[in-house]
Amino acid sequence: MTRGFYIGRFQPYHKGHHQVIEQIAAEVDEVVVGIGSADQSHTLQNPFTAGERMMMITKCLAEMDLVTYVVPIEDINRNSVWVSHVTAMSPHFDVAYSNNPLVIRLFDESGINVRQSPMFDRDQLEGENIRERMRQDEGWRELLPEPVVQTIKEINGITRIQHIADTDASGRADPE
Ligand code: NAD
Repeated sequence: MTRGFYIGRFQPYHKGHHQVIEQIAAEVDEVVVGIGSADQSHTLQNPFTAGERMMMITKCLAEMDLVTYVVPIEDINRNSVWVSHVTAMSPHFDVAYSNNPLVIRLFDESGINVRQSPMFDRDQLEGENIRERMRQDEGWRELLPEPVVQTIKEINGITRIQHIADTDASGRADPE
C-alpha cells in the first residue's frame, strides 16, 4: 500500500492541479492533499479560506475512484521544521509530489522521496493568472473543474476578490 502527499495553496484549485492528482492516482493507492497556507485568506494572493478550498478539492476528488484525505496545513515561520509540522498533521505518506523548489528541497533534506510532475498548460493554468481573470470576471470558468466553479458561486468568491482588490487600491487595510 502506497500513500502519496500533494501540497499546494490551491488558490484556487484548477485543472492543472487536477491533472496532477489524476497522474498521482495512477502511481499510488491513496492520496493526501495538503492545503498549504491554511491560515491565509481574504487577500489577493490567498482569497479563499482553508474550508472553502477543502470544499473545492473534496468535491473534485469525489468524482475519482481513489481514497483521499484533505488536510489543512498552516504556514510556520521556520522552514527548517516545516516537514515535521507537515508529517504531524498528515496521515503517513511514502512519497511527496511537488514542483515547488522550496518544498522539494525541504522534503529532500528530510529524507522524504519527492516526485515532480509535468506542468499542464502553464500559460493558462497558473494561480495568479486565474485570480486576475476572476477579478475581471472574465475567462476563468473554463480553467477550473466544475465543482470549483460551483463553490466559488456558492461563496460569492468573485465579489470577494473584486472587493479585496478595491480595498488594496484604496490603500486601506481595514475598510469601513
Ligand atoms: P500552488 O497551489 O501554487 O501549486 C501546487 C502544486 O501544483 C505545485 O507543485 C505547483 O508546481 C503545481 N502546479 C501549479 N500549476 C500547475 C500546472 N498548470 N500543471 C501542473 N502542476 C501545477 O502551491 P505551492 O505554492 O506550491 O504550495 C506550497 C505550500 O507549502 C504553500 O502553502 C507554502 O506556504 C507552503 N510552505 C510553507 C512553508 C512554511 O510554512 N515554512 C515552507 C514551505 C512551503
